[in-house]
Amino acid sequence: MNNFINSKNIVVLIVHIIGSYFSYGQTEDSKKPKLVVGIIVDQMRAEQLYRYEAKYSEDGFKRILRDGFNYKNTQYNYSPTVTASGHSSIYTGTTPSMHGIIGNNWHDRYKKKYTSSVEDTTVVLIGSKKQNNTGASPKQLLTTTISDQLRMSTNFRSKVISVSLKDRGAVLPGGHLATAAYWHDIETSPGYFVSSSYYMNELPNWVSTFNKLEKSSTYLDTVWNTFYPIESYTESYGDNNKYEVVLGDDSPTFPYDFKILRKKYRKRNIEYLMLGFSPAGNTLLTEFAMDAIKNEELGSDEETDMLTISYSVTDKAGHLFGPNSVEIEDIYIRLDHEISTLLKYLDKKVGKGEYLLFLTSDHGAVPIASYLNDIKVPTGVARTAKFKDNLSKYLNTKYGEDLWVQNFDGNQLYLNRIAIYKKGLQLESVQQDAANFLVDQEGISGALTAYQLQTSQYTSGLRELVQNGYNQKRSGDVIITFNAGFVQDDDSEIEVSSVQGTIHGSGYSYDTHVPLLWFGNGISHGESVRKVSPVDIASTLTMILNLQLPSGNSGSPLRELFK
Ligand code: ZN
Ligand code: ZN
Ligand code: ZN
Repeated sequence: MNNFINSKNIVVLIVHIIGSYFSYGQTEDSKKPKLVVGIIVDQMRAEQLYRYEAKYSEDGFKRILRDGFNYKNTQYNYSPTVTASGHSSIYTGTTPSMHGIIGNNWHDRYKKKYTSSVEDTTVVLIGSKKQNNTGASPKQLLTTTISDQLRMSTNFRSKVISVSLKDRGAVLPGGHLATAAYWHDIETSPGYFVSSSYYMNELPNWVSTFNKLEKSSTYLDTVWNTFYPIESYTESYGDNNKYEVVLGDDSPTFPYDFKILRKKYRKRNIEYLMLGFSPAGNTLLTEFAMDAIKNEELGSDEETDMLTISYSVTDKAGHLFGPNSVEIEDIYIRLDHEISTLLKYLDKKVGKGEYLLFLTSDHGAVPIASYLNDIKVPTGVARTAKFKDNLSKYLNTKYGEDLWVQNFDGNQLYLNRIAIYKKGLQLESVQQDAANFLVDQEGISGALTAYQLQTSQYTSGLRELVQNGYNQKRSGDVIITFNAGFVQDDDSEIEVSSVQGTIHGSGYSYDTHVPLLWFGNGISHGESVRKVSPVDIASTLTMILNLQLPSGNSGSPLRELFK
């Protein structure tokens, strides 16, 4: 008798075959997650996970690093690297070329006006103290999200709740079918979380109750001091420097007394904007997210729910203080405590190992140009208003006086196509003329025409990133890239030595290299240096949750998670 075919070996064989079908999670807990938590830390650079590590607690970022899976080489595969595009790409699993969110705002060629990524004039704000304020919706998003696929696949038994301080940070991750998206209103209903008639006709009780606590106002009455003694912030440059934007009256230094600052901002009716760059804004959002878990009973049954959280303070503060500041370091130290609080709450409410969490960012940021200049790293200012003037003059000389430039926001040039056709000119050749002219301007490294992007396939470098960010219907006639380290500024007189604060949006690594961590249900500890993209997140979740891929998906599942 063949020794191999005995009953014990058959059992082993069957277990092996079954095991290969259910390999996700390495057998430990192959049951599907009760809740998927997607965290975006707006403007988080990959190094910020490690740079402040000595000051992080054991229960926040370090817990995720210790027990979870770390993709250390995660890079966006398109430009522009801005908030709306990043949030859309993470949840749709594809790039702006496909999902259509080519910026936070862009010039709408057909309506001849600027439009926002979440603009929808047919909906109103819900929860606003004033009546009939325009709301926001995912109408401009052209493809489905992983959250949409989850909702459709479970015949809407799954709940999807999306929260952020920014409207786009909540609306875009939630996709077209979110149960609800909530964001922090600063204008019409200051300090309250609001939603849109796209989702609901009135706020649920728990949101109204949360608003009635007036937490935003309470947080604005606090003083922001560093978490540790300020002398210990050796990871950052000195608090008082010429690089940071000055918020008070004299210097960009601690302590930030919001009680005093808010009076100044109140005059301009934007006092609640300050929570956008105070660490208390992250605390407020964490409290709101935990309230959502409790009151919406997220992760309480066998049907997988989804919660998307986008922390915006890191971005607003990053713009003001730059990634090398004590202010940003302190915001990350404090965010680490928020993450710790959130994880403990999820452990308690949903259960350890019952939820699956990923953490990433929508883009990074370049250090402040004046700082780079001082330390002799290549940098400069691209004076965009000057480019527009020079180009208009050039086209007037070449083709006769007309309004040749319909819109030029720095990266994208929209030509006046009606004028071009009226004069009997070839669109392609005017595009090429404009591109050739722009490349000669200081700070511009390259200019691709719409014609080139439609007729060539770029497979490497910045050109590939530009192409992935290019949408034929929505993008401009010429797309520009700048030299590495350069920042755009409308002020045509500004010198690099006097630049304060910073931006993002390029295809360079300081903007594309972001963290990507996975933690919880089915995730084993590990790390990979394989180059991956946040665009891979949606298809990874698709495979884990056994869904249909989002409609425009172009990413690939992160195979290391499926050993
Ligand atoms: Zn952002
Ligand atoms: Zn400072
Ligand atoms: Zn930003």
